[in-house]
Amino acid sequence: METTNLHILGGGPAGLTAGYYAKKHGVNFTIFEAGKHAGGNCRTLKIKGTDCKFRVLPSGDFRFDTGAHRFHDKDPEVTKEVRTLLGNNLLRVEAPSEIFFKGKFYRFPLLPSDLTQKLETKTLLKIAWEQLHNNREKYAENFGEFAINQYGKTLAERFLLNYSEKLWGQPPYNLSTAIAGNRLKGLDLGSFLRSAVLGPPRNPNHLDGSFYYPKYGIGMISDKLCEFIGKGHIQLQHRISRLIHKDGKIERIVLNDDIEIQAATVINTLPLTLSIRMLEPPPPSELRAVADGIKYRHLVLCVFCLNRDALSPNASLYFPDEEFPFTRLYEPKNRSIEMAPKGQTVIVLELPCYSDDAVWNMPEAALQTEVWEALQRVKPLLREEVIHYQTYKLPFAYPVLEVGFEERITRLVQYFETFENLYLTGRSSLFRYLHLHDLFKAGKEVIAKIANA
Ligand SMILES: Cc1cc2nc3c(=O)[nH]c(=O)nc-3n(C[C@H](O)[C@H](O)[C@H](O)COP(=O)(O)OP(=O)(O)OC[C@H]3O[C@@H](n4cnc5c(N)ncnc54)[C@H](O)[C@@H]3O)c2cc1C
Repeated sequence: METTNLHILGGGPAGLTAGYYAKKHGVNFTIFEAGKHAGGNCRTLKIKGTDCKFRVLPSGDFRFDTGAHRFHDKDPEVTKEVRTLLGNNLLRVEAPSEIFFKGKFYRFPLLPSDLTQKLETKTLLKIAWEQLHNNREKYAENFGEFAINQYGKTLAERFLLNYSEKLWGQPPYNLSTAIAGNRLKGLDLGSFLRSAVLGPPRNPNHLDGSFYYPKYGIGMISDKLCEFIGKGHIQLQHRISRLIHKDGKIERIVLNDDIEIQAATVINTLPLTLSIRMLEPPPPSELRAVADGIKYRHLVLCVFCLNRDALSPNASLYFPDEEFPFTRLYEPKNRSIEMAPKGQTVIVLELPCYSDDAVWNMPEAALQTEVWEALQRVKPLLREEVIHYQTYKLPFAYPVLEVGFEERITRLVQYFETFENLYLTGRSSLFRYLHLHDLFKAGKEVIAKIANA
């Protein structure tokens, strides 16, 4: 048997991309994954038609992703790599997204032309006045202040502050400005007034509606990475329990609480909070306190397979209103028609929570009732249309970027960097909003570093 020169901890996209480039570089490696499947939070799950609880019609299979995913075409080299992996299974999708707020659907990202059609004149004037008096350059200490400086109080309160509080479970004034994306791009005073006076542009630009997506779900990317890597390199159901270190090196790795192996070079992709607790001897208590102070948001997915052709034309539908327990609904079929059988569809509702929240611990039936009732206020559905229902729990979905998080994360990451044979990569390991294309890049870089060391 060849000796392994590299141990990769975690078989999510970060671990798999590291394995992918290790194989390309001829570095021998083993990936340890706690779960029964590789792919982490980037998988596609299949519900077989024959497994549906309330089978009303012979149906095919339904597929849904672990949260609404798309492949971002941000790095040409990575896109090329993914295209090579997927061949002609990488589809170009055109599907708009919307926000549902107080009984109305608004285009997302917000479009001035759409707002001028749907909001009352009084509210529009207020928004325009706020746009005129905004000081976009003003320093903001937190996301709440940032959103108001950028978009004015009315828009921020309707569409942004409430949504971010639901998503991250923190008041927007506790969240860092780092969570701000460019989602409201184009919503400046100029375009706002132009559409108010001249009406909507003829070709409203789909800021967010055109993207790449694999034919059988985002999990195809993880599956193709696994195929390339080869089964022999991935040890499933091998949970890392402890990392024993000595003289500035990770010396041994303990698997499933009782198997101890000599550590080679180690790439760690596991959540920072878990990794800190695995170290033996433990790190200084102040570092453990820092780790205890950072949070990850989890997601519960409520999935309904429906005996109807479609619920909406949207890629995603967002719910900033507090009255809805979910933040987003997505319909996989609007990304690829292969995701549901003909004449039927599947919808997925995302409920963000912490592990001690009621939602995370609720019995499936109670959750289904709550979500179903809320759904009726968006689009009335008939009970008879439900072919199948299930929930799925997604841990460590989002790092919660609270004010001052950078300093805390830097301290933790710097501590791990003191181990000479340890490298960190991955979303939860680096506590950064990394996407698939970032992970391909990070995997390539870390393997180049190791191969050239
Ligand atoms: C709702 C949602 C939507 C998203 N949308 C997009 C999108 O549109 N586009 C995009 O590019 N990205 C998107 N992402 C981000 C993308 O899913 C992540 O970047 C990616 O999953 C992170 O990969 P990772 O390997 O760093 O972590 P993870 O996917 O979390 O994988 C970590 C792995 O480590 C394993 N593990 C944990 N503990 C142990 C242990 N003790 N021992 C061994 N193994 C362990 C886990 O089982 C898991 O397999 C989205 C994420 C979410 C949650």
